[in-house]
Amino acid sequence: MADEARKVALVTGAARGIGLAAARRFLAGGWRVALLDIDGGTLREAVAWAGAPEATMALVCDVADPDAVNGAVQDLGSRFGRLDALVNNAGIAVFKPILETSFEEWSRVLAVNLSGPFLCTQKAAPLMAETGGGAVVNVTSISGMRASTLRVAYGTSKAGLAHLTKQQAVELAGLGIRVNAVAPGPVDTAMAKAVHSPAIRADYRDAIPLGRYGLEEELAEAIFFLCSDGASYITGQTLGVDGGFGATGIGLP
Ligand code: NAD
Repeated sequence: MADEARKVALVTGAARGIGLAAARRFLAGGWRVALLDIDGGTLREAVAWAGAPEATMALVCDVADPDAVNGAVQDLGSRFGRLDALVNNAGIAVFKPILETSFEEWSRVLAVNLSGPFLCTQKAAPLMAETGGGAVVNVTSISGMRASTLRVAYGTSKAGLAHLTKQQAVELAGLGIRVNAVAPGPVDTAMAKAVHSPAIRADYRDAIPLGRYGLEEELAEAIFFLCSDGASYITGQTLGVDGGFGATGIGLP
């Protein structure tokens, strides 16, 4: 296949965790991938490790910075000439109750987890439309589906992102762009290691019907499916990838 016909994905928060697994899944599927992250050092290591210099590029960018996102999408367009999928995966977690959450923490979580996907989609959609459209996947969370202690900023940001998914799906359908979300249950990434206490871990294992945390690769597979032609009639949906936790009705630990 000529290089210009190879599909292109932009994955945010791709230096590690679920984002890096998604980037690797797209590469395995024959796509070219732009890996975007705020952490330039880890990002460059990840891109080198992927070992496909002709099919990858690194974009050091804060998804909450409109000018940086604009520049990153322009760089992607100059290098690859098209965009077929955007994965809004970059996110941060602050696990604190409302009385202990500073306004700075609240604002930054909302900026990265909610404004980031707004900005990336707004800047990327015109490039997608140039070749007839594409797919967006937003990474939400089961934390956006239920209120709980410790998650006032994080849970609110993810609930907002679930609604933004529907909004984007309705607004961008006319450009040929489908928009869906995956809602992970707990996945043992650096983020989970930082915010899941031993008590939270034990409660999750007891409550999840499949009895374990998810794997990064399991999330990547769902993301890749939603960007593939196999999902051509699916838009505006949230797919829980949570070992059945969402089906139980049990509260978040
Ligand atoms: P992670 O912390 O391992 O990786 C997140 C990546 O995003 C990091 O590389 C980080 O540098 C990057 N990032 C953070 N802020 C950024 C910014 N402003 N601009 C660009 N990049 C930025 O986390 P993860 O567990 O892989 O999480 C990925 C997504 O999945 C997040 O949106 C998270 O909320 C969501 N999620 C994770 C879990 C879980 O249990 N791990 C559960 C539900 C949802």
